Amino acid sequence: MSLLFSTRSASAPIDAPEAILRGIAPDGGLYTPAAFPRINPSELAGKSFLDISAEILSSYLDGYTSEEIKECVRLAYSDKFDDTAITPIKEAGGLHFLELFHGPTAAFKDIALSILPFLMTKAAGKKGLGKDIVILTATSGDTGSSAMRGFMDVEGTRVLAFYPESGISPIQKAQMTTIGGSNTLACGVTGNFDSTQTMVKRIFNEIPREFCEKNNLVLSSANSINFGRLAPQIVYYYSAYIQLVERGVMKMGEKASFCVPTGNFGDILAGYFAKLSGLPIDKLICASNRNNVLTEFFNTGAYDKNRPFFTTSSPSMDILVSSNLERLLYHALGNSPDSARNLMEKLAETGSYQLPPEALASIKGTFQAGFCNEEQTKRAIKEVFLDTGYLMDPHTAVARHVARSLSDCSSDCSKVPCVVLSTASPFKFPSTVLEALGAAVPASVPAQLQKLQDISHAGCPDSLKAAASKAIRFHDVVAPEHMMAYVMKMEAKR
Ligand SMILES: *Cc1c(COP(=O)(O)O)cnc(C)c1O
Repeated sequence: MSLLFSTRSASAPIDAPEAILRGIAPDGGLYTPAAFPRINPSELAGKSFLDISAEILSSYLDGYTSEEIKECVRLAYSDKFDDTAITPIKEAGGLHFLELFHGPTAAFKDIALSILPFLMTKAAGKKGLGKDIVILTATSGDTGSSAMRGFMDVEGTRVLAFYPESGISPIQKAQMTTIGGSNTLACGVTGNFDSTQTMVKRIFNEIPREFCEKNNLVLSSANSINFGRLAPQIVYYYSAYIQLVERGVMKMGEKASFCVPTGNFGDILAGYFAKLSGLPIDKLICASNRNNVLTEFFNTGAYDKNRPFFTTSSPSMDILVSSNLERLLYHALGNSPDSARNLMEKLAETGSYQLPPEALASIKGTFQAGFCNEEQTKRAIKEVFLDTGYLMDPHTAVARHVARSLSDCSSDCSKVPCVVLSTASPFKFPSTVLEALGAAVPASVPAQLQKLQDISHAGCPDSLKAAASKAIRFHDVVAPEHMMAYVMKMEAKR
């Protein structure tokens, strides 16, 4: 049994379909497991990604039958990924890159957002919802297109993505503003990701109830605050571990470390859940870019978002308020909603909080953290490409830099195989990658893609080529304080 509690109050636990429909808890907390199912990787050895996925999700998602889960898994993964392993591992220069970008929008969010729509519509059926589900999402670049793509034309759903108008790559923007579908909408916001995400959270809590009733709809979230986003991400930690064993890199039962390019702390938190379920993980390394609020947090226990915000070449990590850290705090503080709520209230009031020393010490048993500046990101891309022929996107490059810098100084870590999570295709950020390689950057995106393909001999995902050349459908841009009105206007028009 794996029911879910809110991180902020000791109210009655709910099942997964309910949590997935709600997204965020009514008290503003996040749903998280009361207890973790034990999942032994040796029992999953030799199985396909789809079978591993079905087993893990059945253990985690109480309230669905295993038949329902199997169907969701099949609909999500059987034909939308361009690699049959779904999340293959590639070895280069002594590191193991877990490629999470073989889905429809070429970023790791596709893994969870390919299955979430099916989990959600099943949940709506089970709970007799009878309303349209409006997926409202704040995106730092990749969630938006991935959610729009996942929910596109899924009956009974609509999807609206708010993105920071400046600070995402031209391809990311094109992926959202040119997407098809009769139920999709994207809107730029004249703020950064944090102000966009804060406002989306407020809309969830403050949207007038009468408005939703009158229009027969319910808001839900496809951000990693939704437990239905997290659970599918646990799967690839197991899949990666099993692949390492199958390749003879290590034996079943030995430990592996994972280095994760981190923004909202969803991806790496799924690794923590995998560890709590019994996957032999040594260290989870939290890699940040110049927005290194998490590096400081893991090293000192002080979380302080009162600092300059930098727009970097790894935009999906340009985040100062990492929502999912709340789930880690809840578990690290002994499944204590009071402690987690207090810290979150401090964060809301003052922008900072300090973790008690015992809690920090226990977290440090598992987590390490480091960051990478812009120069180092580019150097990593170039170095790895010249040394091994492997082409990394800027997010992956941040993680590779941090993995290297930590294992160079700690002999501990280098004895254990280290998996770097490769979260996006390098073709999503062609100008940065070309620049890093020392090549001239053509003006148009299609020319950049072509040039990168010529230099690297890697294949550019078709979906990116298509997005770069399609007509723009969505032009709206609003200020953060007008997002609520925008949501309500959209509904009234329909
Ligand atoms: C979203 C994203 C991340 C950060 O993942 P979180 O779950 O937000 O920590 C890293 N890299 C890429 C390419 C992403 O799209």
